[in-house]
Amino acid sequence: MSLAPPPLRDDCFALPAGVDWTPVDEALQNLRVRLHCVVGCEEVKIEQALGRLLSSDIKALRSNPPLPNSAVDGYGFAFASLGVGNQCLPLTEGRAAAGLRFEGKVPSGEAIRILTGAALPDGVDTVILEEDVNASETEIAFRAGVKAFANTRKAGEDAAAGDVVLPKGRCLTPADLALLAAVGHGDVPVYKRLRVAVLSTGDELVAHGGAAQDGQIYDANRVMLLGLLAQMGLEPVDLGQVKDQREALKERLDEAANLADVILTSGGASAGDEDHVSALLQEAGALQEWRIAMKPGRPLALALWQGTPVFGLPGNPVAALVCALIFARPAMGLLAGRGWNEPQSYTLPAAFEKHKKPGRREYLRARVRGGKVEVFASEGSGRISGLSWAEGLVELPDSAAEITLGDTVKFLPYSAFY
Ligand code: AMP
Ligand code: MG
Repeated sequence: MSLAPPPLRDDCFALPAGVDWTPVDEALQNLRVRLHCVVGCEEVKIEQALGRLLSSDIKALRSNPPLPNSAVDGYGFAFASLGVGNQCLPLTEGRAAAGLRFEGKVPSGEAIRILTGAALPDGVDTVILEEDVNASETEIAFRAGVKAFANTRKAGEDAAAGDVVLPKGRCLTPADLALLAAVGHGDVPVYKRLRVAVLSTGDELVAHGGAAQDGQIYDANRVMLLGLLAQMGLEPVDLGQVKDQREALKERLDEAANLADVILTSGGASAGDEDHVSALLQEAGALQEWRIAMKPGRPLALALWQGTPVFGLPGNPVAALVCALIFARPAMGLLAGRGWNEPQSYTLPAAFEKHKKPGRREYLRARVRGGKVEVFASEGSGRISGLSWAEGLVELPDSAAEITLGDTVKFLPYSAFY
């Protein structure tokens, strides 16, 4: 149960040499085959299990419903005891209600008062709705035409004892918790939460909320990425900001590798003079620059730092979020035990026009209004207001595209990424 998973392979982020811009799907496929779960397991109470990932298949301990029961308020009897034509049946004394079994047997040719959810008493296999009956104290009358087993639920028709009701890797929803409770579980085995350290890099950054000098900007990426991780049910670890300085960065990465299972950095990931994240990872011999054919998104720096995977995201907030959603999210899903999880998209008519060149995939900030997809007016990758305006992304294909009003496009709501 608590076996430590094996470490990732040193070459897990290697890309084939000589390839220039890697298509998005190929880059994703590379992550998919190289990464695996790196966290152990624990048992938690189901009331604490929302958003957690099951670490094994879960079987029903008990059938739901446990016994055949009535789906309505009405009267129960044995179908085989009915004659032809309209019916008049004497009532058996007593009644069957939910939670309280009627212990006796209902004699053939008699009916019993029964309420929704009550287990069918012996001698009852069919229920007639009370609205379809004329009843006195002692008998009921109803028209011909009742079907055998009407208004009843079979034992185990929802889930039978021993059935797998939820698969390993499932991210538990409120409805899943209901199912787990209904089939007899109090605790469930889940993966320990993947701990993800978030680190912002750049000499120009200052922490939000404080004073900022000319030339400084507030660190916007960190709160965004920490929030994203929380929404994804992972455990965010805030590692603050660090200057564009090799030694300081090295120390902070060491700390991050100690505290977390994954490290997300933003900024300094390209190949420029001040791109210290990529330079440092390069120095350590651990860097793979992933030049992915997508917009927005500068090169993504992927590396292992002391065995801990690092996703070096671009500094621009738009690129940082898109790269986090498109690449870091599915990768973290694998590391966290969720398996490979594709975000579910919708095909919807466009309320915008766009000419797109071939050669790279494009993600636009978008939202749906009146059943149509709108995109943010500016594509600038520093426009945080556009990220906030948007409620998801439009994904345009790698090939060229000429989108006119009403053409269908692929929309990925932000919620598809949780
Ligand atoms: P870099 O990738 O470090 O070259 O940064 C690209 C752009 O993103 C620059 O304009 C940075 O100032 C900006 N940037 C980098 N990190 C952050 C951050 N944490 N919050 C907001 N903007 C950032
Ligand atoms: Mg920078």
